[in-house]
Amino acid sequence: MKKSTIWFLTIIMALTFIGLLYVQISYMKNMISMRDDQFAEGVKRSLYTVTTSLEQDEAKHFLEADLSQIETALLPNFQIDASESKKLDNSFNERAGNLAPASRYKSMQEVLRNQYIYQRGLLNEVILNILSEARNRPIRERADSATVALYLKTEFENNGLNLPFEFAVVNRNGATVYKSAGYSVDELSSNDSYVQTLFPNDNQAHNNYLRVYFPEKTGYIHSSIKFMIPSFLFTFILLLTFLYTIVVAFRQKKLTEMKNDFINNMTHEFKTPISSISLAAQMLDDSSVRKSPAMLQHISTVINDETKRLRFQVEKVLQMSLFDRQKTTLRLQDIDANIAIYNIIHTFKLKVEKYGGSIEAVLDAEEAEINVDEMHFTNVIFNLLDNAVKYRRDDVPLKLVVTTEDIPDHNLRITVADNGIGIRKEDLKKIFEKFFRVSTGNRHDVKGFGLGLAYVHKMVHELGGEISVESELNIGTKFIIILPLTKN
Ligand code: ADP
Repeated sequence: MKKSTIWFLTIIMALTFIGLLYVQISYMKNMISMRDDQFAEGVKRSLYTVTTSLEQDEAKHFLEADLSQIETALLPNFQIDASESKKLDNSFNERAGNLAPASRYKSMQEVLRNQYIYQRGLLNEVILNILSEARNRPIRERADSATVALYLKTEFENNGLNLPFEFAVVNRNGATVYKSAGYSVDELSSNDSYVQTLFPNDNQAHNNYLRVYFPEKTGYIHSSIKFMIPSFLFTFILLLTFLYTIVVAFRQKKLTEMKNDFINNMTHEFKTPISSISLAAQMLDDSSVRKSPAMLQHISTVINDETKRLRFQVEKVLQMSLFDRQKTTLRLQDIDANIAIYNIIHTFKLKVEKYGGSIEAVLDAEEAEINVDEMHFTNVIFNLLDNAVKYRRDDVPLKLVVTTEDIPDHNLRITVADNGIGIRKEDLKKIFEKFFRVSTGNRHDVKGFGLGLAYVHKMVHELGGEISVESELNIGTKFIIILPLTKN
């Protein structure tokens, strides 16, 4: 996959995620506001019913209390009417036999009219009473706290609002007439409250208001969108998985690029020693070339050197493939670190001297037997020495010092110090990371893939040791390896 394709996919996926999140959040917001509206609607309906019930109660109260009294007051007048109507009735009955149906109907109408007048008189009196007396009754009596609480509870339940509520009745000036036990002004201000005018048909100057709030309303509304939580959770998991996939894709891409570069580089590097060896073979084969002992010596040196070079390149390819394997198979054996290092330095000396440098070994360790895989141990030291040559300074001759010494707890300390270009502090933390290379412009000609030190780090740890580094820019670098002695 091309890098641009990965970027394209990343952007598409990122936009999709943003869109998805946006849709989810706005859906959730809509749900909340819808639930809020529904809630408010339910509360308003309940409050309206409560006030209507209170009004009906009051009408009933007046009807019951006053009816009998008014009845007696109105009765004498009515009795005149009634006796008259009775007379009418009697004469009506007497003459019933010989009366025409039309006049019989007429007298019935009259009876009904009289009854109607009586009832209307009654009601008018009651209504007059309500109008004149009711508004002068204290609000506590007109709508007593227990009744209001009961009505509110019933109505809220009827509207499906089964959650605790607090209420108060306040007068026109905002002073509280009475309130429920848990009613608090602080909570009121932090919650939505609903207000309904009590006895709205009274003169405005006498108005009182019923104020209600629900302490648990927010939780109640939010609990209705709980079902959205899994969808957010899944989106989040999807996002994490996607991020991980993208990181892996980029890493994989980088690795593939590195491997390709590495292989190209290696093929090139292989060609030179192969052609040198083949040239030497041709010379041996050529009868026209005189084969003096000096000549033979020269040819054998060339073959030897070039084979070594080839072997080194092959080693590098092997090291590279190590990273792809999960576990390295080590062929552990006891070796004397002093001897091993001495041999490595001996082989390396020529290379250092070629660049006008010097290499010194201070092998002070008296106990130097370590249990390692010799091939990997040699590679580790070789990589460090190779880096010292690669990252040498041009202005001063390279000076390399390799030391061994015994340290407490039966450990061996090996150091490789150079006087090269050094490493900046911020880079120092990363140099053991795979593919990390210091991006200094001063050494463009140096080839590398940032794998050498990663390999060294991995190997030292697999051999049960530790590696650290000290460096100062333009002064030099010192790698310190601590390995357990076999005795340990
Ligand atoms: P490579 O040499 O292939 O780039 P390494 O893993 O061997 O990769 O090294 C990582 C980086 O550490 C190098 O790019 C180099 O900048 C820095 N480095 C390693 N050894 C030395 C050294 N002896 N002196 C200065 N810089 C070094």
